[in-house]
Amino acid sequence: MNNELTFEALGLSSDILNALAKKGFEKPTPIQQKTIPLLLQGERDIIGQAQTGTGKTAAFGLPLLERIRPEKGKVQAIVLVPTRELALQVYEEISSYQTGNKLTILPVYGGQGMDVQLRQLKSGVDIVVGTPGRVMDHLRRRSLKLDHVKFAVLDEADEMLNMGFIDDIETILEYIPETRRMLLFSATMPSRIRQLAKRFMGEFDEVSIEKVEGEKAQITHTYYEMFNEDKMTVLTRIIDTNPGFYGLVFCRTRAGSDRLAKDLSAAGYDAEALHGDVSQAQRERILDKFKMKKIHLLVATDVAARGIDVNNLSHVVNFDIPGEAETYTHRIGRTGRAGKTGEAITFIVPREFRALQMIMQQTRFQIAKQQVPTLQEALEQRRAAVKHEIFKRIMTTTPTDEVKALAVELLSKTEPELLVSALLQQNFGRQLQAQQMREIKQLPSKGSDSPRTRESRDRVRSGGKGGHDSLFFGKGKTDGWKSNRLIQYISDTAGIPTKSIAKVDLFQKHAIITVESDCANTILEKFRTPKGQRPLVRRDRD
Ligand code: ADP
Ligand code: MG
Repeated sequence: MNNELTFEALGLSSDILNALAKKGFEKPTPIQQKTIPLLLQGERDIIGQAQTGTGKTAAFGLPLLERIRPEKGKVQAIVLVPTRELALQVYEEISSYQTGNKLTILPVYGGQGMDVQLRQLKSGVDIVVGTPGRVMDHLRRRSLKLDHVKFAVLDEADEMLNMGFIDDIETILEYIPETRRMLLFSATMPSRIRQLAKRFMGEFDEVSIEKVEGEKAQITHTYYEMFNEDKMTVLTRIIDTNPGFYGLVFCRTRAGSDRLAKDLSAAGYDAEALHGDVSQAQRERILDKFKMKKIHLLVATDVAARGIDVNNLSHVVNFDIPGEAETYTHRIGRTGRAGKTGEAITFIVPREFRALQMIMQQTRFQIAKQQVPTLQEALEQRRAAVKHEIFKRIMTTTPTDEVKALAVELLSKTEPELLVSALLQQNFGRQLQAQQMREIKQLPSKGSDSPRTRESRDRVRSGGKGGHDSLFFGKGKTDGWKSNRLIQYISDTAGIPTKSIAKVDLFQKHAIITVESDCANTILEKFRTPKGQRPLVRRDRD
């Protein structure tokens, strides 16, 4: 194929060229370079595959606009997309390429009033962009006729298969004359798509755009392993230690995404959830806020995230590991776009390690293990952020003379340290409070990730191998402590399982606690006190 580099060279008309120039498109993307000439001239069906965000909409949309002439309002082309969000997006994108509204284009999706759609369909439409469900509704009501359709487009075909639209698509295609030209576009090309093509298409051309070398390198893939109950804490540590975090967080279920967004908000992070129960109006409002960066965290299910067109995300987080490799590719396609760098982060619980390996094998991404930032690191970043914020406020505020005078007066009457501390506490107390930050449970070390058997636990208790530390507890029998209560107290305070406390030796005025080494630091951290005071729990040797 010769290397056409301009839209002119592809054979597009001047109207369209003007519209593209207005949109600021300088040159066609690779998928556009290859498919547009085929669609403008040939008659064969076509399959086009290229990564998300590479301009597939224009790749079929521009030729549709060139080749379709109104025929008294009879539908000439139908574009099927998996979600209402995409229906709107594709509709808007295609509309933006035409000047003078020569063709009537109509988005048709569930959740939008039937009346409006019926009225518009009745008054004549040239191109329909719709979701399979709603298109079926109209076919059954006979409010939509497809017997003059010349072009049938399946956009985001892999997603439509994932969402189980195959039967609907088949039914819809039965309403369309055999002479139609079929176009199928997809970000990924699993074998199921080729089967679909074989079933429904005549002879077809296949255009596939390999990922450009280096494009992969722009996304770093990492994973973190943890227990389920620590996921939220790990996420906040990652957010804390990545200033400028702007990300999409994927959850498996609606309820899960809802809960996470609420937990994040409660912890002071600007997050919102997007899932199937969110109304269309609400959804648009949330997406707008996210695009404008009024919120930096969007928690979504896969279905709800389809078609979200936000380009400059710093992170995509698989809070729940995707069930399939394809989904992984889709999710992470949201970051590292257009030459920017991005990070794809996956959370796994120990039993999901195999699923992660499968994803690595199938996608060929190297997903590297990462250590969870420690509470200290997260706290330091929070402090740095507070300092940054304060200096920014100093630079950008011009206090009045009255305010300055009051400051001088206050400084003459109080210790500067007390004054600033009080203001800090008031303004940033939550961010600076280590006690409010949860500890994370240590994972069992390698080779012991199955639940411990009673025997091996007993072996540990009886002082066998296993790595234990002794901690000094500064109160004893005379203070009313009993062994059981002490075990419970330590375990509750530090958030560690009671079974990790192997032994308690209770004396009159102190106790010695033997714990699994993995937990010792967690406990010490929890009982830390400001410099100069002796903590209730400390290392035995101290
Ligand atoms: P895909 O369907 O492949 O995921 P889209 O068609 O949604 O990608 O396009 C992604 C973005 O790129 C859109 O905002 C679109 O306007 C823009 N775009 C498409 N083609 C070009 C081009 N040739 N030059 C610049 N931007 C483009
Ligand atoms: Mg697309």
